[in-house]
Amino acid sequence: MNESGQSAAHTAADSEQRRALLEKTLQHALDFLDSLDQRPVAARDDRDALRSKLASALPEHGEPAARIIDALVDGVADGLNASTGGRFFAWVIGGNLPAALAADWLNTAWDQNGALHATSPALGVLEEISGAWLKDLLGLPEGASFALVTGCQMSHATCLAAARNKVLADHGWDVESDGLAGAPVIKVLGSHSCHGSVERAVRLLGIGKNNQLGLDADRDGRLDPESLRAALEANRGRATIVVLQAGEINTGIFDDFETLIPIAHEYDAWVHVDGAFGLWAAASPRYMHLMRGCGQADSWSTDGHKWLNVPFDCGYAFVAHPENHRRAMSHRASYLVHAKQARDPMDYNPEWSRRGRAVSTYAALRELGREGVARLVDDCCRHAYALVTGIGALDGAELLRTPIINQGLVRFLDPHPDAGEEQHARRTDEIIAAINASGEAYFSGSTWQGRRCMRVSVCSWQTSEEDVARSIRAAASAISACR
Ligand SMILES: *Cc1c(COP(=O)(O)O)cnc(C)c1O
Repeated sequence: MNESGQSAAHTAADSEQRRALLEKTLQHALDFLDSLDQRPVAARDDRDALRSKLASALPEHGEPAARIIDALVDGVADGLNASTGGRFFAWVIGGNLPAALAADWLNTAWDQNGALHATSPALGVLEEISGAWLKDLLGLPEGASFALVTGCQMSHATCLAAARNKVLADHGWDVESDGLAGAPVIKVLGSHSCHGSVERAVRLLGIGKNNQLGLDADRDGRLDPESLRAALEANRGRATIVVLQAGEINTGIFDDFETLIPIAHEYDAWVHVDGAFGLWAAASPRYMHLMRGCGQADSWSTDGHKWLNVPFDCGYAFVAHPENHRRAMSHRASYLVHAKQARDPMDYNPEWSRRGRAVSTYAALRELGREGVARLVDDCCRHAYALVTGIGALDGAELLRTPIINQGLVRFLDPHPDAGEEQHARRTDEIIAAINASGEAYFSGSTWQGRRCMRVSVCSWQTSEEDVARSIRAAASAISACR
């Protein structure tokens, strides 16, 4: 293909070098994955240690790629959390399914731009298929529009932009043309336990956090129907969005969709559901009852990178009113889509150029199938239950919230007879730190109803019964070591 033999030889050498580099990289990746069972779950290096290995003045000259990869692997080795393994229960993280990981590698090699169907026809079609599969699996309306975004945070921003378009149009205001100056005020109503990402989306969209009202909820954070009705009544005639939760971050509770959504719709409010991990309950025959009525909402946010176990960054936005979704996002003047016309992701996404996130989603859904997703959900819930009740039963521990799905809460008690909340809080943080320092498991703290606690979240396909037993033993050792 080259006219000069020299440049052909150059190409062959390049190709040889690239192969060696990627094979070396594969080895590094396999070494890391094989080490997950033995390596400490928590990163060992602090910031200074990592900087001493990785920081320098900006290099003046380039280096050979293979040397950079080796240096990178050495430099980060003790600064990585083994969050993709089976004993990481902090925040809500999730692992990497084998097919999803492999597909994501290929995605990087293909280096496609997911903006338009034309920038990558294959990725465009994978996205159409993934969107349809996800709606089916999650019990959402077939006609809903969707977007594959960076995560649930951007999914909120996308869904609430569609909501903003609709509730302001209902009040005779075209926000896409005229902006927010002089527009009717939008009120956002939800339980006071709403995730902070909702507030960030509300700020980003110019609605303003003072217009988000935290309403009364029950002990576990379920929005109280009477307080919702009262708030809707007080704001009657206003542009209103109601935010409900499928899986509250601490307790994993679900709002009572069957009761709350019809109330919100009586007042012409838009209902958005934060289901970052909880929406996946819909995929399990055992837990789908928690989602009853949820399909009547107007938009839904969830993550792929948490419970579906695809690589970061991957979240999903679904909107029951495609025309409002397109008005909020599309750059085209016409909002008509014809059935045969290819779907341009950009018409539904806040980004322009973007990674083809459907590749790992498509691979994960094929790897698991409907049955496999249900099993993944059920297994994580079973492990969460065993962990929370197992740790909660230890001498010196207290079970605060038994998991409804995959999240639960425990805390540790200061044994001193005069100990109060402050001492229990200190003790709880001490024990969490001791478990994490042991390298055996990793948990994060949370404050729930004024009490410091340890939150347990299980969303990795890797977590096994042995991981659960080992983590309970780690908690028991931490309690005795801290006496
Ligand atoms: C994680 C989480 C979010 C934010 O999702 P990202 O994917 O991190 O953007 C929102 N809501 C809940 C309930 C979550 O657990």
